[in-house]
Amino acid sequence: MPDKPLLEFTDKGIYCSKGQFYIDPWQPVDDAVITHAHSDHAYAGHKHYLAHNLSREVLYYRLGSDINLRTVAYGETVHKNGVQISLHPAGHVIGSAQIRVESQGEVWVVSGDYKVEDDGVCTPFEPVPCHHFISECTFGLPIYKWKPQVDVFAEVNAWWKNNLENGLGTVIVGYSLGKAQRILQNLDSCNGPIFTHGVIENTNEALRRNGIVLQPTQRITADTPKEAIRKGIVIAPPSAVGTPWMRKFQPYSFGYCSGWMALRGAKRRRAADRGIILSDHADWDGLVSAIDATGCEKVYLTHGYTASFARYLSEIGFDAHEVHTLYGGEEEGTVQPESEPAPENENSNTSADNENLEGVEDTK
Ligand SMILES: [Zn+2]
Ligand SMILES: [Zn+2]
Repeated sequence: MPDKPLLEFTDKGIYCSKGQFYIDPWQPVDDAVITHAHSDHAYAGHKHYLAHNLSREVLYYRLGSDINLRTVAYGETVHKNGVQISLHPAGHVIGSAQIRVESQGEVWVVSGDYKVEDDGVCTPFEPVPCHHFISECTFGLPIYKWKPQVDVFAEVNAWWKNNLENGLGTVIVGYSLGKAQRILQNLDSCNGPIFTHGVIENTNEALRRNGIVLQPTQRITADTPKEAIRKGIVIAPPSAVGTPWMRKFQPYSFGYCSGWMALRGAKRRRAADRGIILSDHADWDGLVSAIDATGCEKVYLTHGYTASFARYLSEIGFDAHEVHTLYGGEEEGTVQPESEPAPENENSNTSADNENLEGVEDTK
């Protein structure tokens, strides 16, 4: 009888029976290795956690400071029952890691979420050679092709400046862990002060406690004068959209940052003035190049357009499989559209809308 595979897909998460640990489990377990602190990967209730050093404070903030957490640097090896585990940069958000698992010369890598563009905020993605690669594919369709971030933020800063000249406030929306810091670090603070919603500022503070240097921000409180806010920019989480909290900054122009903004109708669905196509996940080319760079024999696709992407990878010669997991949900939302998506087109009639793309923001 052949040996069990080194990693298996179980109803609790990705499991290593030899090492007796799980990777990003969604049911409570004894021993959990965590790729990153987004809520669909880092659940509460495990007995032991292993994660990267830079995930420490955010995990404490989100899961409670009483969790039993061990943190390591990238490349540091941890041994569990004869299995070697190490964490490698995933380039997704600060502290995000791919998990490399090795036993008797066989290497598996679990990507977690990743992107290949260096965002200047988190440690850039590094391909890790392996035999078996377990990859996300949130944006695994050829229509997803990101512009370089420098071009995206040149447009964002010009839009902000233009709003200031027209006496309008500016609100920019992005998820609290990852997108918000990427926005913050790329805003041109010569334009004016940067204000934050409490959910985002709590995350910023956790990251600062972890030694991350971020641009200065001002948390918005009941006492913050509206006039001051209009002379700057507000970074808000998706959960603030459409709330009285946000309406009190009127008049303003409102931009929404998401990879889904590449889809027809996405901007209108969120009532945004501006759809800013910006993602912390790899685009189509990024996914294909990252998978190729591992030199893997087998690839397993966990979340996103798994079926069509597996078909494509098989056509170009990979041994590709879709697997069922509970990942996808926090930042970008990874439920794929029911209908074939089409690129954003201002003139199109979007009767084939679906509401599946809404991500779930953390409630803390
Ligand atoms: Zn994530
Ligand atoms: Zn995810």
